[in-house]
Amino acid sequence: MNNRIKVLPDSVANQIAAGEVVQRPASVVKELLENAVDAGATEITLNVKDAGRSLIQVMDNGDGMSEIDARLCMERHATSKIKDVNDIFRISTMGFRGEALASITAVSQSEIKTKTDEDELAIVIKMSGNEVQSQESETGNKGTRISVKNLFFNVPARRNFLKSNNVEYRHILESFQQISLTRPDVAFRMFNNDKEVYRLDKSNLRQRIIQLFGKRFNERLVPIKESLDLVEISGFVGKPDFATAKRGEQFFFVNDRYIRSPYFHHAVMQAYEDLLPGDSYPQYFIYLKVDPAQLDVNIHPTKTEVKFVEEKSIYAVLRTTIRQSLGKFNIAPTLDFERETAFDSPTFDKKRSISIPQITVDKKYNPFKTDTVLVQKSPRSNENLRYAQSLYEHASPEEKKEASLELPDEDNGRPGSKIIQLHNKFILTHLKTGFMVIDQHRAHQRILYDSFVDSNQEQPSQQLLFPTLIELSRADFDLVKEQIEELKSLGFSVEIFGKDSISVNGIPVGCAENEIEPVFMSIIEVLKSEGKKKKNIRDRLAMQLAGNLAIPAGRTLEEKEMVDLVDRLFACEMPFSLPSGKPIVITLPLDDLNKRFQY
Ligand code: ADP
Ligand code: MG
Repeated sequence: MNNRIKVLPDSVANQIAAGEVVQRPASVVKELLENAVDAGATEITLNVKDAGRSLIQVMDNGDGMSEIDARLCMERHATSKIKDVNDIFRISTMGFRGEALASITAVSQSEIKTKTDEDELAIVIKMSGNEVQSQESETGNKGTRISVKNLFFNVPARRNFLKSNNVEYRHILESFQQISLTRPDVAFRMFNNDKEVYRLDKSNLRQRIIQLFGKRFNERLVPIKESLDLVEISGFVGKPDFATAKRGEQFFFVNDRYIRSPYFHHAVMQAYEDLLPGDSYPQYFIYLKVDPAQLDVNIHPTKTEVKFVEEKSIYAVLRTTIRQSLGKFNIAPTLDFERETAFDSPTFDKKRSISIPQITVDKKYNPFKTDTVLVQKSPRSNENLRYAQSLYEHASPEEKKEASLELPDEDNGRPGSKIIQLHNKFILTHLKTGFMVIDQHRAHQRILYDSFVDSNQEQPSQQLLFPTLIELSRADFDLVKEQIEELKSLGFSVEIFGKDSISVNGIPVGCAENEIEPVFMSIIEVLKSEGKKKKNIRDRLAMQLAGNLAIPAGRTLEEKEMVDLVDRLFACEMPFSLPSGKPIVITLPLDDLNKRFQY
């Protein structure tokens, strides 16, 4: 019998391996840029021609390679990043496999020029596939330049598989963006057919994002930060009202490498729940740091998919961190004359059946007059303002001018000073760079809602001299019986009275006595519609009650009342919208006013 097993020649083996690593020009760009960064370069230039078909060249001022290393680096499994068996661990954590250069050179005509600090001259090696064509010495600076010409010249099947230049070029841009976002402290330049596309100076992350995607990003970015043993999270997310109809700038990095993660994407989208209009996509630039032992990078040949051991916990942390940042920082919609949708509220969950009668409470009731429980100075208020301001701390003075929301100077006091009521419905107050309009009813509703759902806060209950008896249908009676504790937590003290009646002995502060029955009935409506979804019940009850008790539209407010309201609103974690996503605050930046007046 003939031997049928043949050992493939190295050149063929390399071509096969190349198929894994080098799928298209953009993969070459990624590997070469990564190597340049790994070599400690502070300036890196990328040149592409014909969407990378005829040339991909990366030039860096990193450490360079010795002659021996330069010859070796194109061999498979040649890597300087793993020195002994102990380092093998790093293979799976950082993805160093010594495969990229071997794979790239196997399917192209390449040239490496490289020089270390110690060497006098640079080495230049020319290759065609795996064949070394020539090796020379030349003068040159410290660093490495790798030129990859005629990609897939010897693998026509792959070459034919490439998409249009436009598509391939877009992938190259993405690779460039991904790598340059991992290292804002490194200067990057990119040329396409000799035309400069990007010139990214050494800078910080915010500036890098702006350099890549445009100045308009400055006002869009909300910083995120969390530091736990499990994971460290940093970076920026886009304000909800800048979400775009097309899926745009969305980036995850783990330990400074770009990854794709549909799972974590889902966590981000959860954080934006109720804040995004319709089918729109927020921007995000999220950096995760985890113990490398918690990762397995090698599940994907190009290493963009990563498996996390503690995936579920990280999901939860990520979601909460983003949600909180969106609340703390200004996510108020800005009044934008160029967008007709400026006043559109984010979509409401239409599946929710809401059949609750709206009840207007005693119009003469004034929450500020007698009640000292509700009007409490909040330490968080100032903190919130400071948060909002810190948004711009990283910004240069020039950027600061562009920022859409800045709060008034110290000497102008809080944003509550210089305050006007419009149509007994809206509160108008100035910002350092514009003004904001606050819906008085929703503002108060947000404040009350937060205090109702705050489990640390015992709800004050106003005891009634004469308990109110309410007769209920059998079904309603059962519902109430079941939820007596929930009701108590909202400030209703309720007792069973006979077979089908309840006695209301205490009511939430702010509820007028003559409104007890209608308010209570509206609460029962919520119990009816949400009764089975135990999880939501508290939130829905709180929302309903807050809606009932909040200052209605149509009430005239005194200046002091407005100041208090604004103050307490900004003490809330999410002052800019209701849980339903409906806006509470709309800002109008001075810049937009100027534009409007054609300054
Ligand atoms: P890996 O990055 O996984 O080590 P590569 O095939 O990408 O494998 O690179 C092989 C080796 O070549 C690297 O470990 C490094 O020693 C060397 N090398 C590649 N590119 C550069 C560069 N731009 N500057 C200095 N050394 C480089
Ligand atoms: Mg590499």
